[in-house]
Amino acid sequence: MTRHETRLISDEATIRVDLAAALRLSCRNGWHEGVANHFSAAVSADGKEFLVNPRWVHWSRVQASDLILCNADDPSTMERPDAPDQSAWSIHSALHRNLPQARVALHIHPPFSTALASLRDPTIRPVDQVTARWFGRLAYDLAFGGIASEEEEGERISRTVGNHRAVMMQNHGVTTFGNSVAEAWDALYHLERAARTMVMAYQTGQELAVMPDALAEATACEWEAYKDAEIAHFEEMKLVLDREEPDYKD
Ligand SMILES: [Zn+2]
Repeated sequence: MTRHETRLISDEATIRVDLAAALRLSCRNGWHEGVANHFSAAVSADGKEFLVNPRWVHWSRVQASDLILCNADDPSTMERPDAPDQSAWSIHSALHRNLPQARVALHIHPPFSTALASLRDPTIRPVDQVTARWFGRLAYDLAFGGIASEEEEGERISRTVGNHRAVMMQNHGVTTFGNSVAEAWDALYHLERAARTMVMAYQTGQELAVMPDALAEATACEWEAYKDAEIAHFEEMKLVLDREEPDYKD
């Protein structure tokens, strides 16, 4: 099969628009950090060809046509004039090489998730409906090895993820996954909301009312019946962008 044939060409334009929207929306929520962090989405059937945001372009300005197409198996990628950020390559090439089920990977340091990741115990406990969504469904990487400039950092993160939809990266941030940008972005939204609740609950100094495991598991299962709401959430937010900053699609 040629490189051309392995790509799902009909989907690439749509994925570009969705990934640009996810970057713009995350910026509007104040989750971005300078011009760092990176979102990626596979466009080939084998998951190895992926789009990633351009190096050091502010997320408020990213357009669909700016996204860089990379191949996770091509080590010459970092020699290209439009090479992505080194840590973007280290993390996302490993994720797309090792986790073909993770079509989309959103890596970011949003305020509340990062505050939680800075604690000795960064566990999200089931204390409300949103935190319970993550019960048994969040991987924890407790072995931060410095700013991800080495391939091994990405390899270790992808080993930790397994089949989970997100990973809490201690001393670092979070990464969420999905079959679509909509799924991964909705996961990011609800992970940051869960982290916000944990941080605010801890701030009271009061004891947490942690749900029994059976109730937490039942609540997490109930979320899975709301899959359509994940898509609706992202589609609604794209309509807001369409009204207020439609150039993300260009
Ligand atoms: Zn990072």
